[in-house]
Parts: sequence; structure tokens; C-alpha cells
Amino acid sequence: MVQKVLIANRGEIALRIHRACHEMGLKTVAVHSTADADAMHVRLADESVCIGPPASADSYLNIASIMTAAEITGADAIHPGYGFLSENADFADIVKEHDIAFIGPNGDHIRQMGDKITAKETVKKLGIPVVPGSEGGITNDDEAKRVCEEIGYPVIIKASAGGGGRGMQIVRGADELSVKLNTCRTEAKAAFGDDAVYIEKFLTKPRHIEFQIIGDSHGNCIHLGERDCSLQRRHQKVLEEAPSPVIDSETRERMGGIVAKAMADFGYCGAGTIEFLYEDGEFYFIEMNTRVQVEHPVTEMITGIDIVREQIRVAAGEKLSYTQDMVRFHGHAIECRVNAEHPFNFMPSPGTVTQYHPPGGLNVRCDSAVYAGYRIPPYYDSMVAKLIVSGYTREGCLLRLRRSLEEYVIDGITTTIPLHQALMDDEDFQKGDYDIHWLEKFLEDKQD
Ligand code: ADP
Repeated sequence: MVQKVLIANRGEIALRIHRACHEMGLKTVAVHSTADADAMHVRLADESVCIGPPASADSYLNIASIMTAAEITGADAIHPGYGFLSENADFADIVKEHDIAFIGPNGDHIRQMGDKITAKETVKKLGIPVVPGSEGGITNDDEAKRVCEEIGYPVIIKASAGGGGRGMQIVRGADELSVKLNTCRTEAKAAFGDDAVYIEKFLTKPRHIEFQIIGDSHGNCIHLGERDCSLQRRHQKVLEEAPSPVIDSETRERMGGIVAKAMADFGYCGAGTIEFLYEDGEFYFIEMNTRVQVEHPVTEMITGIDIVREQIRVAAGEKLSYTQDMVRFHGHAIECRVNAEHPFNFMPSPGTVTQYHPPGGLNVRCDSAVYAGYRIPPYYDSMVAKLIVSGYTREGCLLRLRRSLEEYVIDGITTTIPLHQALMDDEDFQKGDYDIHWLEKFLEDKQD
């Protein structure tokens, strides 16, 4: 078993990982940029190392600095969290070459799933349904035209190396195709250094439904059910829930079973998420994330399983603590992402938090690294907290969420809490009747 975990991340996820480590009796090492010297993850960790200046490229993405910090502190495992280096296959390889356990899958698996064209081909072979589209990358206009005519408009052009909701173009008709193809390629090259793009059918009213899986190095892989992440703005998730209001237990068992078996056959070791679009009763794979997700707590709330703990165990070569039969789903959970942004126009609002009082009570969880007096640095992402609430039923969960949002005090900055409160009052949301485009329309109405 590992003894000391270096946490190569910041903010709430660094705290989340620290908590799992301390519950397992493991020591932690925090790394931080100069902008984060006062951060909560640094205060809580057993040791800390400054790894560079504020810019992520020089600190949280600086592999040499992070490896040096691991060497100096004698860490025998590294947890990358999400974002930053979490899906960097070369980093996973380098960590392993230094005889340090990488808390995530092996480099080859990250590489295969990180390239979306390869990922789609791989999962298709493993028996997972995919969105109809081009077989592999698109190299010229004629080929693009042929594929689009075959699958029918609208289509979406996506960068193979894309992520974070970037590098996508929707094409409504043949007249737009050539220009959008060029735009997508140019943007992909600029943003990801790779201009490979592919085409798939643009689904007009799907939900975003993803399955959580965890595999170990002994050939076992289990699923922990699905999360519904359809509430998105600019392809970024805003609120997530588990279970999905539209998936019944039979469908959950069937799809979860397909996904877990596929990943066991793949030999996957670690936590992962298989993302689907779901429309008219059909699932279509869009991508796999080979790391812990921001929204993992909703799954933890309804299963009682500590996903980060399982990640650490399997990375240390141990077996999963659970078999599929032991996984039980109880009640309903919802997570609200609280960002330091205007609730309706999303203008960033960095600054100093003057008062901080998170809600509490039964089945209320607040994952945040904020405290009164904390200055939110402008260099990193704008999420400052995740409020996760569960209830025996979805209705009960919504009542508790409304109460918790009411209690939440974050003074000194503007946050997206009022957006979540507005959602609680919306009839469609209350009924669970929404698709991935619903929130954008809801926000347009709010601007009027
Ligand atoms: P990223 O890696 O940037 O998150 P994804 O492939 O996961 O990209 O897609 C992000 C979001 O974009 C999805 O949740 C969905 O809202 C939208 N999207 C992606 N593919 C399609 C599609 N074929 N049809 C409709 N919407 C799509």
C-alpha cells in the first residue's frame, strides 16, 4: 500500500483527495503556485512544496517541478485530480518510470481515450454504441460532404484532441460545411496543437448521461450507475444529478453492465466516466474521461462509496472493495456548481470572500476550499464550491437544496447561487424535463 500521496492539484479537489488520504491513514503533500501559498489545500496537507509562479503552465502543469517535489518529500503516489495533468498520458508514464504510483489508469489507456477518434473506434469494438458519423478523421471537403449526406444534417464537427467544450462546430446545411470545417481545423490546431477533426450526427434534443465505472488490476470492473449532466452552458456542466430522472433501473443495469464489461475487457484500472448522449431511448457514446469527475459526489451520495478511496486502492494494486452485487442505489442527489461569476451573464467576479458560511444539516455536503478572508486568484477556473444535497426522493432532494441555497453565505464576490435558486423555481426543472439545450434557452429568457 502507498504511504504518502502528492496531490498535483488545487482547490476543492485537492481537499477532497486529502480527506480520503487521511481517512486511510496516508500522509499528504500539497503542491502550490506562489498565488496559492495561503490556500486551504496547503494548510491542511502534512507537507507542502511551492512549484512555481501563478501561471498554470509554470506550476500545476510543470511536470519537472512536480516530480522534484515528489522526490524531495518521498511521496510514493501522485493523485492528479481533474483538469491540469490528470489526462496527460506522458505524465502518467513519467510518474510510473520513477516508481511512483500514478492514481489513475495507465498511460496507454489515457492516450487512447484522450484522442476522441481513437476512443470512439476503441469503444465501438468493445460493444459500446456510438454517435453515427465519420469512420475516423476527415481529411478533405469531399469526404466530409459524403459523410454528411449519409448521416443527414445537422452535424457537429469536433476536434479529436478537443476538451472542455471547445473545438466544436455545428453545421446546419451543406452550404456551411466547408467554412465550418476550416474554422474547426484552425481552432483545433491553435488550441490543441492537432488539427484532426471528425464529424458526427448532431442530436437535437439529447440528454447528457454518463456512467461511473471503476476497475482494478485483477480484472474486475464495476459501474456505479449514471449521472445526468444535461444542464449545460456552452457545453459546460452547471448542475448534475443522480440518478437521471429519465433512466429506470432496468436500463441502468443493462447499460451499466455493458459499460463495466467493456472496461473490464479493455483491462482498465482506475475510475473513469463513459459519457453518452441519450435521445429517444438510445445511448450514443461521446467520450470517456479517464479521471475523477467534478460531479463524482452525487454518485457517492447515492451509493455510499468513496470513489477517491477506491482510486487509491486500485492504484496501489489492491482489489476493489466492492463487487457489483454490493452496489446499492439509495435516494437522489444533486450537485450545484457555484462559480465566482455573475449568475446570468457569467462575467467573472474574482475578489476577496469577506464572509463564508456553508449550509449544513442532514445529507448536505459542501466541497469547497474557500474561507472568510480568502482572495480568489484570477489565474484558475472560476468554480469556488460544489453544493451536493441528497434526499430520499428527488422531490425531497429539491426541497433540501432550496433550503441549503438559501442558507449559503459567500459575501464579497458575486456567485452563481441565484441561478441555482432560479432553477429550483422552474417547473420544467422540477419535473426533470430538460435536455442539453434547455439551460441556454432558460438563460436567454432571463436576459430579457
Ligand atoms: P468535451 O470533451 O469538450 O467535453 P464532448 O464530446 O464531451 O466534449 O461534448 C460536450 C458536450 O457537447 C456534450 O455534453 C453535448 O452537450 C455537446 N455535444 C457533443 N457531441 C454532440 C452531438 N453529436 N450532438 C449534440 N450535442 C453534442
